[in-house]
Amino acid sequence: MSTFKELGLKEPIIKALTDLGYENPTVIQEQAIPQIITSKSDLKAFAQTGTGKTAAFSLPILELLDTNSNNVQAIILSPTRELAVQIGNNIKDFCKYLKDVNVTTVYGGSSMEEQIRSLKRGSQIVVGTPGRTVDLINRRALKLGDVKWLVLDEADEMLNMGFKDELDKVLEATPDTKQTLLFSATFPREVESIARNYMTNPVEITSGQKNQGADNVSHEFYSVTERTRYPALKRIADLNPDIYAIIFCRTRRETQEVADNLIKDGYSADSLHGDLSQAQRDSVMGKFRKKSIQILVATDVAARGLDVTELTHVINHKLPDQIENYTHRSGRTGRAGNTGISIVLVNGKEKGKLRAIEKIIQKKFEEGKVPSGKEICQNQLMNLIDKVNNIEVNETQINEFLPSIYDKLKDLDREELIKKFVSLEFNTMLSYYENAKDLNDLSRDNSRSRDTADNMTRFFINIGRKDSLNPAKLIGLINDQNIGDKIEIGAIDILDTFSFFEIDKNFEDKTLEAFSSNQPDFDGRSVNIEITKKDRSDGGGGGRRGGKKPFGKKDGGFGRRKGSEGSSSSSEGGRKRSDRPSDRPDRGSADRKTGGFGRRHRER
Ligand code: AMP
Repeated sequence: MSTFKELGLKEPIIKALTDLGYENPTVIQEQAIPQIITSKSDLKAFAQTGTGKTAAFSLPILELLDTNSNNVQAIILSPTRELAVQIGNNIKDFCKYLKDVNVTTVYGGSSMEEQIRSLKRGSQIVVGTPGRTVDLINRRALKLGDVKWLVLDEADEMLNMGFKDELDKVLEATPDTKQTLLFSATFPREVESIARNYMTNPVEITSGQKNQGADNVSHEFYSVTERTRYPALKRIADLNPDIYAIIFCRTRRETQEVADNLIKDGYSADSLHGDLSQAQRDSVMGKFRKKSIQILVATDVAARGLDVTELTHVINHKLPDQIENYTHRSGRTGRAGNTGISIVLVNGKEKGKLRAIEKIIQKKFEEGKVPSGKEICQNQLMNLIDKVNNIEVNETQINEFLPSIYDKLKDLDREELIKKFVSLEFNTMLSYYENAKDLNDLSRDNSRSRDTADNMTRFFINIGRKDSLNPAKLIGLINDQNIGDKIEIGAIDILDTFSFFEIDKNFEDKTLEAFSSNQPDFDGRSVNIEITKKDRSDGGGGGRRGGKKPFGKKDGGFGRRKGSEGSSSSSEGGRKRSDRPSDRPDRGSADRKTGGFGRRHRER
């Protein structure tokens, strides 16, 4: 293993790294730093979150930066404002002992004027989200004519979020002589095409096996139905009293509902999604980092900027639309040498996707059994006893109360005393799980029933991945048909040549009518839709098309919980947000300002 000095970094940078506790370079740093310092070749790096990629591209840039010039020399694009802010802060930490280095971070949802002022003062390094970066280029506040390095961080996610046009624009605004450094956890077709069109003979490096899950993460799946999904989630949390987890959801609405239910049921939880204001998101992230929240319920995009190294669990309440994103999710645990567990809750239909994910992560999912009430009680009890064993007694403070306490308890022997203290903590939990059903049985009983929510209709559509369809484009296409303002879009399955989507049943007829009268086309291909049968016990999306299947702390512990299992699953509990979370994949945070349902989500 090399040292940072051997990689070619100067003393002031190494000193800052020492302050940060970076002793040795990570794999990606070991490869990228000398490569960028010694060569002007473009670089294509396979790197997941948590591999140390920020330092991998920032440190060589800082090493080579010309501090005599105040022009922008490095532009770093990142998909979300949180990630941009994090990268900006990391770079400021790295250049603590370097003189005359200025960094500006630009992103939507924050004052443009302030950002323009900072750019005018002169910054050699600009970190930005694609939307705001292009806005500033258009206003001529950001000039990229002297750029030496263009970094595309999490390129796959930027393209997923529909930032292709913005990337094109930034690439065009930078000189041909620049060095492009592209970092991505996955390399789908769209990312490869950026690499092909905009990079010249890039050198490829990888932080490990392409797309492979971290070695210290184990992957488990639990079979659920829509009815048992939330109770199963709670039992998994209950079995792990020291859980520190992110629960991933597909949509803002799902995120808010799960968080509201957990809060209502007494868990230390909160939500993070694109409908929250920047201040709300900062506050939630701050609380989670400080562990005053144990469970964070988040959409993929919103959780992107969160850098937490000690997560015990990642829970996929629902799998992501694009299975490649599973690696992003599971990679949030098992970081910095810790072990972690990535749990997936799947119904009969979703199970098919597990095989495809296994191919990507090159690991097998273990089947987990939703714990019984008895197992949970036993675990919680032992945890309580361990805590009693390990509690530090403040002798000086407690001594004055002890004589009267001893006097009050003088008639109880040791066994009775233990029983009573344990029951004090435990009675509520015991009664909560009394007569708790075996959720695994319930899931089995219902596994042959329909997977589509009762209030949704499933449609077949004759375009798929081969037509460059993705969930965002499909949502855009549906919304372009003007079916209704309040239309809800449910599950989406994109397959090679065709796809499926769910629509609120009340809009079934209107959807059919709209597609039939508008006769839309998608990239020149005429589009048609059909209702598919809802009963899909084969786990596939075939319906009457048949044939092909898709590949598929607690703040009060139990003592504060009311009622019995399953008493809460309404969406009315917990806090209320001012905006109704939308039921569609969360692709950013600024769309709420830009318009209603169906607009593409953009950072501005
Ligand atoms: P990143 O992949 O850049 O988001 O980094 C993931 C985490 O690893 C961050 O908390 C970094 O501060 C930390 N990190 C990055 N490089 C090193 C290193 N060489 N030694 C220790 N921690 C590091």
